[in-house]
Amino acid sequence: MITDLKNKSIYTPLGDGGGKVFLVGAGPGDPQLLTVKAAKTLALADVIVTDRLVGKAIIDEYANASAIVIPVGKQGGSNASTPQFEINELLVKLSHQYKTIVRLKGGDTSLFSNILDELEALNNAGISYEIIPGITAASGASAYTGVPLTARGHATGVRILTYYTHTAISDEAWKQFASFEDTLVFYMSGKSLHEVTGKLLDAGAGATIPFIVVEQATTPNQYVYQSTLQDFFNNGFDKTFISPAIVIMGKVAGLYEQFKWIRNNNSREHYFKPLEDYPELIQLLNDFQKEANVSRA
Ligand code: SAH
Repeated sequence: MITDLKNKSIYTPLGDGGGKVFLVGAGPGDPQLLTVKAAKTLALADVIVTDRLVGKAIIDEYANASAIVIPVGKQGGSNASTPQFEINELLVKLSHQYKTIVRLKGGDTSLFSNILDELEALNNAGISYEIIPGITAASGASAYTGVPLTARGHATGVRILTYYTHTAISDEAWKQFASFEDTLVFYMSGKSLHEVTGKLLDAGAGATIPFIVVEQATTPNQYVYQSTLQDFFNNGFDKTFISPAIVIMGKVAGLYEQFKWIRNNNSREHYFKPLEDYPELIQLLNDFQKEANVSRA
């Protein structure tokens, strides 16, 4: 029920008492690409549990200086990532000790984000929560490359996909994708892109269908790589992309050359720090779980 628009929360919470967990989308990188609601919630947070794909600038700009910041980043194939069940458990524990807990996730909260596990854990523990959406990487990359995902005359729709560790996609589905009536956006698929181009060509896709790979979209290190299905399949098998990278595939990708408005940053430096760079914080996280006693990270 909406009671007072000036209230921090305008909705009647489902849970009762104790702390509240805000699951918040931090956007794709540029610290200005955060919703007003996300920024206001961060300013109120006692504790922030944050992902690898949330830049430090966001914490510096919006979090209260006294907030406890706990990074629990996940990176495909990295030993340093915190197991999901530990993150769930951590959120539950924190909500018993603090009033406002923010679980900050890269991009939007609902896309490729493990939010379901966290919602289940919170629900099972009877903890109240709010979900604040964010700008997903596809939208960020689209805007910061000048490539509209469903440009009139180029695509009738857009499909948000991943081909991470060989996600099961049926032959029938590949055939549909290969028609390229829809733009295909692949998350977490930089490493499997050679295979993706092969699958699409086998399913009948046109050899000259263009695509762009946007590394570190919306950050100062954004770099856009352009290719076509056949060219990449023939020559791109050993190509590696800087993480995070997103692929926008289909006729719309051909608009990049004409409408781009940001120059590539050729330094190819990493904007998002891998969790390995913060051994003391991994230790901190472990200690927290032992003693429930942490200081500002
Ligand atoms: N919830 C996030 C997605 C998390 S999965 C969202 O809505 O955007 C992580 C994947 O997102 C990465 O592998 C990459 O494909 C994509 N991604 C996230 N941030 C990105 C960025 N700044 N630039 C390019 N791709 C990004």
